[in-house]
Amino acid sequence: MSETVFDVALIGYGPAGATLANLLGQAGLSVVVLERDLDIYPLPRAIHFDGEVMRIIQATGLRAPVEAICRPGLKGMHFVNAAGETMLIRGGTTLNGPHGCANNYYFHQPELEQVLRDGVKRFASVDVRLQHEVTHIEDGAEHTTLAVTATCTQQTYTLKARYVVGCDGARSLVRKTIGTAMKDLGLHQPWLVFDVILKDGAPALPDHTVQHCNPTRPMTYCNVTGNRRRWEIMLMPGDDPANMVETETLWKLVSPWLKPEHAKVERAVIYTFHSIIAEVWRQGRLLLAGDAAHQTPPFLGQGMCAALRDVHNLAWKLEAIVKQGVDDALLDSYESERSPHVHAFIELAVRLGNIIQATDPEQASARDARFKTGQPEIFEFPSPRLGPGILQGQAPPVGQPFGQPRLTDGRLLDEHLGDHFAVIGRPNTLGTATESSKATWKAWHAVVLPSTDPTLGQWLDSHGVEAVMLRPDRYIMGMATSSTDLDNITACLPACSGRTGALTQCR
Ligand SMILES: Cc1cc2nc3c(=O)[nH]c(=O)nc-3n(C[C@H](O)[C@H](O)[C@H](O)COP(=O)(O)OP(=O)(O)OC[C@H]3O[C@@H](n4cnc5c(N)ncnc54)[C@H](O)[C@@H]3O)c2cc1C
Repeated sequence: MSETVFDVALIGYGPAGATLANLLGQAGLSVVVLERDLDIYPLPRAIHFDGEVMRIIQATGLRAPVEAICRPGLKGMHFVNAAGETMLIRGGTTLNGPHGCANNYYFHQPELEQVLRDGVKRFASVDVRLQHEVTHIEDGAEHTTLAVTATCTQQTYTLKARYVVGCDGARSLVRKTIGTAMKDLGLHQPWLVFDVILKDGAPALPDHTVQHCNPTRPMTYCNVTGNRRRWEIMLMPGDDPANMVETETLWKLVSPWLKPEHAKVERAVIYTFHSIIAEVWRQGRLLLAGDAAHQTPPFLGQGMCAALRDVHNLAWKLEAIVKQGVDDALLDSYESERSPHVHAFIELAVRLGNIIQATDPEQASARDARFKTGQPEIFEFPSPRLGPGILQGQAPPVGQPFGQPRLTDGRLLDEHLGDHFAVIGRPNTLGTATESSKATWKAWHAVVLPSTDPTLGQWLDSHGVEAVMLRPDRYIMGMATSSTDLDNITACLPACSGRTGALTQCR
């Protein structure tokens, strides 16, 4: 094996690794992907992602093939009590959400992973090695050395990379190497996940998600895609896990809706859902992303979504360091920005889980009464801010994603901006920024977009500002009421090669 020093080594080729491989391949970095298994993990795991994730997929250039394998979730989530009465419909779903796509999508994870892996084949600079397991990691001053075993031949070798991203899932070797503790948000509940493929002649089942808030046995039903349906069924005290996955038990559990002759069992597995976040996401050249960094109960359908947000945050930073010579202190902003963000989602999933999982009859009936008021504020889909990092200003919408409107020429905003920084503003404000700011924009390949399009002008009006600066991951870096403000925001960008100085952490 060669002694090349790769720009980035990715360990693990699940959704986090495959998305990052696309983003880094697109940026032209030399990347090696090391994956222990030959095939994509075949069983269903994630079935839902949100609009921001579709936008990340759009950034990889794979929106069209992904749209072809998923369906927009337009019917919301129905909360049904033990008597079968619908107490609440959590709506807010639309085909045209703020990200320029639907707010929610349903899909089959192995199909998504296949599209992502096919996408990586576009990039000659990405070397994918399946059946190559990383067994040891040695972080050094100049590069990191990985010990690898080709599992089909048992041949061992080492390779070097400037940065290593552990996209290696819940049992991450990279996380063990970093040696971080995990913050525990307290929910560790076993659930049975039962997936079926409906046969012809099966009875009609709801095409929306149903939360069966029955205190004797909380359950969730989901229409995935095509004929695939899922039940997630909570294990109750006294349940024997081995018995729960017996065919007879499974059919008994779903007997109100389906008989064995109506569907083929795809799998029945008991998962204990965790709610944990690594306390350290970066050490030297080692970084964590996806399940390696955090795990969430699936009540908001957000584990993989968080993984894709991680790698979108990381990709432009790695590109800036490798290609533009930016100081790698920039990588410290990865954890500081992403950790509080994912924390907000996990905390909400835990709260939602505790509500759905209520088994005490009194607690359950109080919950049902609250649901019927139609104001269970817990179900607002969160839009947390990023934590401190490459941001200027504390108040939202700074640190939140900028929407993706369709502009008057018919193109979506990101189609104008590509994957760089963007400065959108009144022509006069942009024009009177200092030469130094303009040089910084140039060095960062920022797209400077005068707000002549009415949609952009209206956005500035409604926020009372003259300009807005967006990061390549489409989060708002800062908003300016004058060209001086814009200069101050620009000054938060770390220096590119040729200029010296450490990263300024702007709050
Ligand atoms: C039942 C269930 C339902 C879920 N529902 C949703 C949902 O609706 N929405 C959602 O967003 N998320 C959901 N999730 C979570 C989602 O599936 C995970 O968050 C996602 O798969 C994490 O992706 P990842 O790439 O970080 O890790 P993984 O998909 O676990 O990939 C890690 C990869 O690393 C490889 N690897 C590990 N160690 C090594 C090594 N030493 N060398 C080489 N390779 C290695 C593994 O073989 C694996 O391929 C659900 C999960 C479950 C279990």
